[in-house]
Amino acid sequence: MAEIAIIGGGPSGAMCGEQLARAGHKVNLFDEHLAWEKPCGGGLTHKAIQCFPFLLDNAYPKKLVHSVELISSQEHHATLEMPHPIVIYSRTVLNGLLLDRAQAAGCHVQRSHVMSVDTENTKARYCVEGQWHEADFLVLAAGARNQLLPGTRALQRDELEMTQGYFVPQNADAITIKFLPQFEGYIWSFPRNDHLSVGICGSMAAHTSAELRGHLQTFVEKRNIATEGAKFYSHVLPSPRERTLSERNVVGKNWALVGDAAAWVDPLTGEGLFYAIRSGELLGRSLAEGCPEKYPAWIKAAFSTELEFAARIVRRFYRGSFLGSAVTTRMVQFIRRSPVFRQLVGDLFSGTQDYSSLKRRLWGRLGITISEFIASVLNMEPARGTRIRHTGAAGD
Ligand SMILES: Cc1cc2nc3c(=O)[nH]c(=O)nc-3n(C[C@H](O)[C@H](O)[C@H](O)COP(=O)(O)OP(=O)(O)OC[C@H]3O[C@@H](n4cnc5c(N)ncnc54)[C@H](O)[C@@H]3O)c2cc1C
Repeated sequence: MAEIAIIGGGPSGAMCGEQLARAGHKVNLFDEHLAWEKPCGGGLTHKAIQCFPFLLDNAYPKKLVHSVELISSQEHHATLEMPHPIVIYSRTVLNGLLLDRAQAAGCHVQRSHVMSVDTENTKARYCVEGQWHEADFLVLAAGARNQLLPGTRALQRDELEMTQGYFVPQNADAITIKFLPQFEGYIWSFPRNDHLSVGICGSMAAHTSAELRGHLQTFVEKRNIATEGAKFYSHVLPSPRERTLSERNVVGKNWALVGDAAAWVDPLTGEGLFYAIRSGELLGRSLAEGCPEKYPAWIKAAFSTELEFAARIVRRFYRGSFLGSAVTTRMVQFIRRSPVFRQLVGDLFSGTQDYSSLKRRLWGRLGITISEFIASVLNMEPARGTRIRHTGAAGD
């Protein structure tokens, strides 16, 4: 494949462009904004940093956050200290970093809107500024709102989340996550270098945008976050179901989807940056080898089993109950009371604990978690000499 066109210069498209240009291909990347403040928390977990160390080792401004405050729907609080920080970027900076790398590798980057694509013939075609061009392969990296989907279907309402939020000129040192009663999603506050990204995400099939706006407003007022004059945003986020991951076509004879366009997002947490960058890398490698048909199998081996697990449990996590309370409430209470459980969730948040071995670890630590929980509730010294540190603010 001599010539490849990439539509979308977000994390997935830029990484794919870098890989292909490094492998010696002629790559044209088009983005209607280039580096821009795409609505996003901008948080990268340790799993992303481990896989792509350049995301930490660079001079671009970013914030390293070690602490997460969790608030249950009933206002229980707990604080997690993570062994590895979440690295938070403004998206203008992160997109700029990835596009700079793609350009340095030889990828041609152009600020343009791609209006339509045609993949019917052997050579793919795409239309930019009224002119049709040909390419050997089209990489569709145009995100979740993308309408350019040859040979596959659009995501449906139950495969999407709505998000709304503000960029607030205010500083903080910890991430805040707030759960809501019978709500499939959560509110977040992510501190960046010079501002906060505060927002809410919720299932598009289960909630209305007015509901989201109301919850977010209550949260910012309660936390004294001044939103007057702050930039408001709303966007969609893929929230793949099992069927999305197993059935939706992501590659054809002369095209493939990457990142949000392919719905590679963790439906439980909304983490998409790692999957965007990794899928861009894997598609780039498979194209460089001349074998795009290998791409789905490589994705499966790399992460889609994890996403399928998250898709299976997401509704139970947000709507289910455990020991008579919401699962999320119990989770916050256990984090507050049990150091062993706190460490487990800390690893989960920072991305070092995968879902595949989570169940085994949970069962293996259940006894000590419960004994720590009970000992803490009864204000007793815990068994096995474990010290319990109370980190929350409100009572259970
Ligand atoms: C509110 C919100 C908060 C989030 N927070 C986090 C977080 O903290 N951590 C995390 O890991 N993930 C987060 N995500 C998910 C993350 O933002 C996405 O998974 C990630 O941006 C996907 O990257 P991408 O390159 O696939 O798509 P995008 O980043 O959406 O990039 C697509 C690009 O395509 C361009 N484009 C679209 N159509 C065209 C066209 N026709 N012609 C030319 N260019 C086009 C756009 O300008 C854009 O730059 C969040 C998402 C949202 C909505």
